[in-house]
Amino acid sequence: MKAVTAKTHAWDRVWLGANLATGAPAYNDRHAPAGLGELRDAVLAIKDGRVAWVGSRQQLDSMQWAATNVTLAEGLWITPGLIECHTHLVYGGDRSNEFAARLRGATYEEISRAGGGIVATMRATRAASEDRLLDQSLPRAMALAAEGVTTLEIKSGYGLDLDNEMKMLRVAQRIGELTGLTVIKTFLGAHALPPEFAGRQEDYVRHVCNDMLPAVAAAKLADAVDAFCERIAFTQEQTRRIFDRARELGLPVRLHADQLSDGSGGELAADCGALSADHLEHASERSLQRMAERGVVAGLLPGAFYYLRETQLPPIARLRELNIPLAVSTDCNPGTSPIASLLTAMNMACVMFRLTAAESLRGVTVNAARALGLAKDRGTLEVGARADLAIWRLRHPEQLCAEVGVHRPVEIVLAGKRARS
Ligand SMILES: [Zn+2]
Repeated sequence: MKAVTAKTHAWDRVWLGANLATGAPAYNDRHAPAGLGELRDAVLAIKDGRVAWVGSRQQLDSMQWAATNVTLAEGLWITPGLIECHTHLVYGGDRSNEFAARLRGATYEEISRAGGGIVATMRATRAASEDRLLDQSLPRAMALAAEGVTTLEIKSGYGLDLDNEMKMLRVAQRIGELTGLTVIKTFLGAHALPPEFAGRQEDYVRHVCNDMLPAVAAAKLADAVDAFCERIAFTQEQTRRIFDRARELGLPVRLHADQLSDGSGGELAADCGALSADHLEHASERSLQRMAERGVVAGLLPGAFYYLRETQLPPIARLRELNIPLAVSTDCNPGTSPIASLLTAMNMACVMFRLTAAESLRGVTVNAARALGLAKDRGTLEVGARADLAIWRLRHPEQLCAEVGVHRPVEIVLAGKRARS
């Protein structure tokens, strides 16, 4: 360390000799623009919770600098903190009985029509007190955090009435307070039709638009709004009305789109300026074109594909051709994707959807940040980005996708501070 002068860079912490997966285009080979932005034997410095400097050791040698804390990081890889951009991890009860039913041959739609599925979780979620719901949900968030997740999206959608939707969103908020993770709360009142509105779907949509959305927005309990546009859920026209109302209230939207059938969900998401359209197994060419035009992120959820033993793959090659950003997520939920491991979802995205390891890692960093509207603030290791970091002992980050159940970060940094482990 050199003497402090007026021109000295004064940092809070610096890592020397680390390998960085910056995610920054500047560090990519121009022939492989969607790479990891790798920088070997490099330096990362942070100050006031933000990335303050990134570069090579040679560049550092010509500078005046000082740091409160210096870490020799040879052999370590630093990635942006992982971003989990699509979960339903706040819920009561479990649905392992449906898992067993599916093993006997029942389909998701049959289970749903027989009162299982989302409505079964709704009953268990309504029955749980707020504290009980927190107790049941927190371990799932902590499992994700232990893998290096630093930003976590959590949807409501198992309350399906105002009090219980608000209860879920308060639990999501408390998970953020307890773990230090950034939790993005998404209101998903249009997830399923609650039984008290049976046969009155239009009345429920009106209730969502006129009562629930304004109340949730006024309480500042939602950062975004989602809907399930599907033949077993809500129509395109209903979804559009809900999204129009959300946008009037200043809330960005995202959509469960084209999972079980082509409902022009991708096109609807694009028309409504959605941040992301998620699932997309049955998305039409028209939907993909519109998503590309409007910069809508494609949220890939291989866990649901795996649990449902789907055979229709999302149109990965076409998404690539159209340069649609690919995000990867667990879809952590009790029925169709009870997976609280983003690293496992990254592996599944590679094995089943044939993403490259770089695409999969970008899917949980830079593109997941875009899916949450946070691209300016996180998802890369660029100067000015929030210093959310995952630090790994790896030969290469591809190992995170190739090897399941093996890797945990050796350190996690949240806004510049070492996370409690
Ligand atoms: Zn979902």
